[in-house]
Amino acid sequence: MLHEILTPADCAACKGCCIFAAQELWEAPDCVLPLDPPNEETDCYTCRHLTDSGCELGGDKPPDCAMYPFRVMRLGDCRVVAVSRYCKAVNALPLRRLCEFADTHCAAFTAITTPDMVKPYNDEYVILRVLSQ
Ligand code: SF4
Repeated sequence: MLHEILTPADCAACKGCCIFAAQELWEAPDCVLPLDPPNEETDCYTCRHLTDSGCELGGDKPPDCAMYPFRVMRLGDCRVVAVSRYCKAVNALPLRRLCEFADTHCAAFTAITTPDMVKPYNDEYVILRVLSQ
């Protein structure tokens, strides 16, 4: 569904969601851990599946990666759909468009309930929609 708002060219030009600063390691899906040691210059960790042409896993990416920059997050007693502030291509879109995307795919987001997929809310994410429980 992300192809509606994010093109492969956008992702290939960025790759930012596959490179993690130490404080972003919570974003790394379990199945790509352990990461190799950080780059000595940037102090960032790069996923071993990242190649010059993008993710070598293609359509078999971990679910967390497949839905990035969107997340279902736990905030108090609620689950919310939220978008990372760090995806440049998606954040170039009007907030109204992102809210429409969350609304259109509300059923798919609502179906995400497993603890490994529902992350604790982090204020580096913008809330787009509150989901019914
Ligand atoms: S598995 Fe692929 S999409 Fe996920 S972080 Fe690694 S390179 Fe990026």
